[in-house]
Amino acid sequence: MDLNRDLIIKQLSEECCPICSLLGKYEFNLMANLQWDVGEQGNLEVEKIIREQGFCNYHFHMLFKMSNPQHLSKFLIRYINDFIRSKLAQPELWERKCSVCDLIDNRTQELILGFSQIYQSEAMFREKFQKNRLLCLPHLQQIMATNISQNFKDELLSHHKEVLNVFGTIMSSFVNKRYTEAEGEERQSPLLVIQLMVGFHGTRWSK
Ligand SMILES: [Zn+2]
Ligand SMILES: [Zn+2]
Repeated sequence: MDLNRDLIIKQLSEECCPICSLLGKYEFNLMANLQWDVGEQGNLEVEKIIREQGFCNYHFHMLFKMSNPQHLSKFLIRYINDFIRSKLAQPELWERKCSVCDLIDNRTQELILGFSQIYQSEAMFREKFQKNRLLCLPHLQQIMATNISQNFKDELLSHHKEVLNVFGTIMSSFVNKRYTEAEGEERQSPLLVIQLMVGFHGTRWSK
């Protein structure tokens, strides 16, 4: 938990949702290891992935982008062979699981609990967060479902209401200007609002 505490506190110095940033880095490291491991014979984790039919669409494509195509082909050959041998005859079993998504879900749980514990117990952290930090709404929803005390829940909700109002004001000024006259923060605001509303690409609302 201490390691998570340090990671979360450090992440507060970056702009977007700290949970999303940490998940993005976690996913990248997982995939960087996997793109090598999948091409290696005899890796038990990879054998399990083959049996469970690979990855979700997103992570299959990400694996392709991060891989040497010939190294990846060693994996795909085994994947095809397993598919022909044990799954082709049963189309009703072609559902696809994704071990990367499962690991990210577990990591999300740890970070949500870590965040709510630090928020609950450390005034310095609350103060720093209140200044100009935010959680994306899916992660805020998950924090709300932890046993953090009600006054901190209220504080977090009113903080995010303020953040949403600020973005509304920035965009209201943005839409009344020529693009070339707009400030940097105005031009960035649509993307920042989308990140705030939906979070990291793999974020799910309820997990
Ligand atoms: Zn987030
Ligand atoms: Zn996935």
